[in-house]
Amino acid sequence: VPRFNAVVLGAGGVGKSALTVRFVKNSFTESYNPTIEETYRRDIFLDGERFTMEILDTAGAEQFTALNEGYIKAGHGFVLVFSLTYESSLREIDDIRQQIARIKGPDANVPIVVVGTKLDLVHEREVTRDKIRQLVNEWSLPFYETSAKQNWHVTDVFQDLLMQMRDR
Ligand code: GDP
Ligand code: MG
Repeated sequence: VPRFNAVVLGAGGVGKSALTVRFVKNSFTESYNPTIEETYRRDIFLDGERFTMEILDTAGAEQFTALNEGYIKAGHGFVLVFSLTYESSLREIDDIRQQIARIKGPDANVPIVVVGTKLDLVHEREVTRDKIRQLVNEWSLPFYETSAKQNWHVTDVFQDLLMQMRDR
């Protein structure tokens, strides 16, 4: 079975773990543990073929350390996560995006999906659809608005990334 490594990156508290755990275990918890860093595995079918996705849910991606550099070197694809309820979390993913380009090379055509989380918290939303559309167009990256709590569009994120990794 072909195996791909995906790395989930973004600021603390944006919902990286919730997104990953929803996808891998189909569950959600309200509790927040910022220190959890874990690798998960899930098999997914794409066009009738089975693939194993290994997903590294990182912690504390805001400080760019040698550790993050190692994740980026080892990863085949990246999920860049920000919260729709916290506009400054966008800056983090822009930084990470640039780090990936620097480490992998600007023409490496690295599989990446941008994810805005907490879509269910409509009254707390800070990032407009226009703003994020403009950014992802500029970056030429696919984008999904998700809710790990409600299980909205979570599978789409990983399917998209898998397709990019397979077709590279
Ligand atoms: P991480 O630091 O990026 O891994 O963030 P977590 O996944 O631990 O999530 C931080 C907090 O946001 C937790 O209390 C989660 O329950 C909450 N959270 C994450 N995703 C969602 C979501 O889609 N909707 C809502 N309402 N809360 C969420
Ligand atoms: Mg986490």
